[in-house]
Order: sequence, then structure tokens, then C-alpha cells
Amino acid sequence: MADTAGVKIHPSVDDGIKPTDQGFAGGVLTCKCATNPVKVRVSAQTAHNHVCGCTKCWKPDGAIFSQVAVVGRDSVEVLENGDKLQIVNKDAPIQRHACRDCGVHMYGRIENTEHPFYGLDFVHTELGDGDGWSAPEFAAFVPSIIESGVNPDRMGAIRAWLKEIGLEPYDALSPPLMDAIATHVAKKSGKFGTLNA
Ligand SMILES: [Zn+2]
Ligand SMILES: [Zn+2]
Repeated sequence: MADTAGVKIHPSVDDGIKPTDQGFAGGVLTCKCATNPVKVRVSAQTAHNHVCGCTKCWKPDGAIFSQVAVVGRDSVEVLENGDKLQIVNKDAPIQRHACRDCGVHMYGRIENTEHPFYGLDFVHTELGDGDGWSAPEFAAFVPSIIESGVNPDRMGAIRAWLKEIGLEPYDALSPPLMDAIATHVAKKSGKFGTLNA
């Protein structure tokens, strides 16, 4: 057994994962600026919340994973100090709108209407007020934490710990999301459902 003592994933999961409140209807995300913070209203419950090991998502200081969920783009509205938002990389599939002062990503938006996840924004629910946001369900892009500087020797312990706290570790996204992407591709190519194996 890998020694999982001391493994830290993300502040939102290290001390126990807060459960989803089925009646929760969103809240306001606030960046880390002490003055004139950017505020973004998310007026719906999120979905597919997960911790992500990729090098693109915003992470709080010291965390090796981000925590990120999706919500319909129509449910995301900038309330205050939107002039501080700038897009991290306009060429990336997900355009991450970040506070230029504190660096926090307030929402990631897909502008390509052909993208499988077009219509969904990516948000970090830890920035939100209130408890009850959809709880993280799995760990995505786990090997990528090595690219951020995690020693590969620690991967066994990190995967073991993720499983212990109920976040199944995946090399990419979860099977339902990978299937949704492939379904989108198959529909576009006309191959959807043509094999009945
Ligand atoms: Zn800020
Ligand atoms: Zn990510």
C-alpha cells in the first residue's frame, strides 16, 4: 500500500468534501482581491464538479489540483469590477477570464460553437458564497500534476488517496464526459449509432 499520509489535494477536499445540496441554486463568486474584487453571479447549481490536475486551470496557492465545475453560460453574469477581467489565452479552447490583479480565473468560456462543451462555462465553486455547490465527483488529468512539479514517485500515494476520498483518478476526464465528447464527434461525422456491436 502506498503511504497516503500528508497527501494534499485541494483545500476544498482535504478536510472532507462538503455534500451537494440538491436545492442549491447558485451564488456569487468573488476573486481574491482585498479591494474592488470581481464578482460573478452563478444563478444555477453546477455539475460535473471535479478536481483537475491540468496545468491550465487556476489553483489556490499550494494546491496540486484545481477544483472546477460546469454551469450553463446563460447562468453566469459579471456583477462587479468586470473591467479587471482579461482572457488568459484567446487561442485556447476554453477562454479563461481572469482577474488581472489577483490572477484568479472567474469563469472559463467556450466560444467555438462546434466544441462538444459549447454552452457550458467552467467555474471554481470554492470562490462562491454558501455551501451546497455540487460536490467534486472525480479527479481529472491526474498525470498532468507531474508537469506542475509533483514528484512522479508520489503518484501512487496520490492516486490511492484520491480513491480513498471517493475521487476516482482518471488520466483525462471521467468516462461519461469522454463518452459525451466522442458522441459529439460521432454525430458530426454521421457515424453515430451505425454499429450495433
Ligand atoms: Zn482579483
Ligand atoms: Zn484543468
